[in-house]
Amino acid sequence: MNKGLLIVLSGPSGAGKGTVYSVVTKALGDIGKSISVTTRAPRAGEVDGVHYHFRTVAQYNEMKEKGEFLETAQVYNNYYGTPLAPVMQMLSEGKDVLFEIDIEGAKQIKEKYPECVSVFIMPPSFEILEERLRGRGTEDENSLATRLGSARGELAQFKRFDYIVFNDEVSVASQKVIDIIAAEKCRISRNEEKILGLLKNKNL
Ligand code: 5GP
Repeated sequence: MNKGLLIVLSGPSGAGKGTVYSVVTKALGDIGKSISVTTRAPRAGEVDGVHYHFRTVAQYNEMKEKGEFLETAQVYNNYYGTPLAPVMQMLSEGKDVLFEIDIEGAKQIKEKYPECVSVFIMPPSFEILEERLRGRGTEDENSLATRLGSARGELAQFKRFDYIVFNDEVSVASQKVIDIIAAEKCRISRNEEKILGLLKNKNL
């Protein structure tokens, strides 16, 4: 079966994984994107169905009960989840799918799909992590303190991942993610059917 690659980008809040995700998806134009469901309110400029599917807690719970999520997590005070059906559809069509999710969600996907490729985006230092979170201007002081407080625990989870990318410079970090995807697609284990098909061709 022609199956796409499932790639998960994760890391602590402020590591810059959202920015890396945007650069990588732009560079790899035809890569599949998963639009998450969230119960948080849209930020200025965010569009329903583009950045997220914005839903109420009741709607989110209903989807969860029906088993419509690949993974779900509570991130700070809101719920997030990856809708299962569109992802399965893209993978079965042979399309690679890139995710940008929190560490708990990444853990759930790795447990369900050990063949996925997980990349931990690491901030270069705690000082830079704080600077980035402040610079984003989307968090109040309380939320900032919570995010900084949980960052250390999140950083300690790096061993669950296949790769680590230090995000000193977004363009360099993004290129590393693109290179990881390219290398993973060249793995013998992911190409056995194709190779065996070629070997069956008597004209070669
Ligand atoms: P934000 O609210 O700033 O857009 O995202 C907050 C956090 O939620 C980020 O760490 C982001 O990666 C994570 N996130 C976004 N979508 C999902 C999802 O579908 N599942 C999980 N587990 N985390 C998500």
